[in-house]
Amino acid sequence: MAAGVWKQDTLEGLDKGSRVWYKASANEWRLGTLQSSAEKAECSLALDSERGEGCGQVITVQTSLLVPANPKILDGVNDLTTLSYLNEASILHDLRQRYGADDIYTHAGPVLIAINPFKRVPLYAPEIIQHYKARQGSQQADGYEPHVFLTADKAYKAMCTNSKSQSLVISGESGAGKTETTKIAMQYLAGLAGGTGVEGQVLSTNPLLEAFGNAKTLRNNNSSRFGKLIDIYFNNSRHICGALIQTYLLEKSRVVHQLPGERNYHIFYQICRGLNAEERQQLRIPADTLEAFRYLRTSGCTSIDGVDDGADLADVKKAMTAVGIAPAKQANIFQLLAAILWLGNIEFDVKTDDSVTVRRDAPLANAAALLQCSEDALASALSTRKITAGGETISMDLKLESAIDTRDALAKAAYAALFRWLVEQINVALAVGKRKSDTSLSILDIYGFECFKENSFEQLCINYANERLQQQFNKHLFKLEQEAYATEGIDWAHVEFEDNQECVDLIENRPPKSVGIISLLDEECMFPKATDSTFSAKLRENLTSNKRFSYNPKVPTDDFAVEHYAGEVVYSCHKFLDKNKDSLSPDLVELMETSGEPLLQHLAAEIAKTQEKRGSQTVGSRFRDQLKDLIQRLDQTELHFVRCIKPNGAQVADRFDAPLILHQLRCCGVLEVTRIARAGYPTRYLHTHFADRYLVLLSAASQRKLARAPALDVCKRVLEEYRIDRSMFQIGHTKLFFRAGVLGQLEDTWARIQ
Ligand code: ADP
Ligand code: MG
Repeated sequence: MAAGVWKQDTLEGLDKGSRVWYKASANEWRLGTLQSSAEKAECSLALDSERGEGCGQVITVQTSLLVPANPKILDGVNDLTTLSYLNEASILHDLRQRYGADDIYTHAGPVLIAINPFKRVPLYAPEIIQHYKARQGSQQADGYEPHVFLTADKAYKAMCTNSKSQSLVISGESGAGKTETTKIAMQYLAGLAGGTGVEGQVLSTNPLLEAFGNAKTLRNNNSSRFGKLIDIYFNNSRHICGALIQTYLLEKSRVVHQLPGERNYHIFYQICRGLNAEERQQLRIPADTLEAFRYLRTSGCTSIDGVDDGADLADVKKAMTAVGIAPAKQANIFQLLAAILWLGNIEFDVKTDDSVTVRRDAPLANAAALLQCSEDALASALSTRKITAGGETISMDLKLESAIDTRDALAKAAYAALFRWLVEQINVALAVGKRKSDTSLSILDIYGFECFKENSFEQLCINYANERLQQQFNKHLFKLEQEAYATEGIDWAHVEFEDNQECVDLIENRPPKSVGIISLLDEECMFPKATDSTFSAKLRENLTSNKRFSYNPKVPTDDFAVEHYAGEVVYSCHKFLDKNKDSLSPDLVELMETSGEPLLQHLAAEIAKTQEKRGSQTVGSRFRDQLKDLIQRLDQTELHFVRCIKPNGAQVADRFDAPLILHQLRCCGVLEVTRIARAGYPTRYLHTHFADRYLVLLSAASQRKLARAPALDVCKRVLEEYRIDRSMFQIGHTKLFFRAGVLGQLEDTWARIQ
């Protein structure tokens, strides 16, 4: 960051009577007015009576704990870059005020910040859609309040004007509102460019994918457990004519295991609660006893406040019908889901230390019946493994732990295949008019940065994705900024920015260039004797020169730490190898292939096909390729960023948890981007606007002399009389560009003489 950018945020020039923020504790700032100059180590401060206790109290504080506050005229501005003083206290103050008034959207320069209200806010009515829709494409967005509608509208209209594909990249941590924001944007586009009927189908993909891909977690009752990019296509008359969905890395471990208080995928509870007695009987699902199923029972949570799973099933069925999945197919899907639930209940009896027998009771019988295979075939697939050696195939017994893993692997594979198949069905249905168009508007709703107590392979992948997207975000926002200066003929020295390349390299580098976590993991997966511990040792051996990598040599664990742009995350190597290989034993594929159930047979064939196609490609390297492809595709479009913010961990309305919000603002780069935008010339005035407003600041003589002069002459005179430093502004073809802080000085004077 260029030196000097921060100068305006120091106390320099502040004196008695200036508004300042006092850092009362690590996470609390209080507004006050200086009672003495800020030149000494301590100064006297009158705390503001608006906030907190001690109204009007005068205290002595360390000057180093003060940062300047903005003039009152800037309270609650809808773009953070227009703040004269940019510091954490001021940003939080602005967002707090807006949030308090249910203004959940704020611009941070080119980025839209959306704070999750956790309640219904009156911002989405059809009239409001109309209001934004009426905006002329060429018209400046200035007169419009920040809104997802506005961001979507800008994207749509830019697409229409320039015939260039657009993307909305929506990010934020779990529960921050990404998926809702995506839906709101889609709703707007359907309202703006619907009429073909396809928009209804596009919208119905949401309840469908949510039923199969979302679950209650500790952070969000409706947490998406997959990443999603939806490309919406438009025909020549710019109406929605099709869509294409790409999904990323579904968390399939959830099918067999959830943390206490979390749930499995919604669809399981929906079928248990929503199917009628006859349907349930066919699927062997007992009435009202979700607790009968291990996969639903062990987390201790089967319901979500305010959610009626049974009623939701009706919506899901409707959505399936809308995308062309007929009721008969729906029945097949439900049957497979019931089979998965019964699989989870299958028990093993230990025969010897090295072998088990499958218990011959209802779960085995039900699972086999629903999978339409024989009980014997299922039992043997779960308790033995075929091994080919020297041209001979022998059957090896499985230990208890391996038998349980095999049972769970079958459940996970079947579910993941079902999810993929569903996405495929949706894509077939929505491809109707796709070929008539080559411009699209894509919306990316991908999992945000995650840092839990225990972090595993999934978190590494998720955080890697965020690292790549952050990199793209930086690159892109710089570009935009610099283009704006070029258009106005502004002199602009390139501002360096600390990027996260090193962290991206740490994860994705591969030979011959170098090695990275993924390539080392792949290498380790090829050694038959390798374990998670040997992998951990390999990381330590190879990566310690990367500053972003570390481990604690004093603690005898397989943990390692990565310094991500959003903070350090400690990963445990446990199960990294298995999760990366993700191979389904041929026995299980064969079992599924010989099933009498057509859907399952089809899924098995698909699994076999993908396994063959991928060869030895691992989950990690496939994800790396997918991400590379995603970034390339996004790069070919014009990008629009939305950063979603979660206001509190309790998921309740009207609670502004400042430290939590600040952490997210830092993580998703909002502070940085505002700083970057401001490091340039964030305050922009048309010559005419500036002249109109500040003419009154001139001396009487100048005012008389310049009454009829061109606006630019007035501007120049104001700048001269007020001795605005030449480094603080630039004169563009139509606008004046100011460094931050300049407006504050002029505004103060302006306010005084009013
Ligand atoms: P994410 O996808 O980021 O994990 P979601 O979009 O699922 O988060 O949002 C979590 C919850 O927050 C939603 O289920 C909803 O209750 C609430 N929410 C999010 N955005 C809004 C909004 N704009 N208006 C009202 N409620 C919202
Ligand atoms: Mg989501």
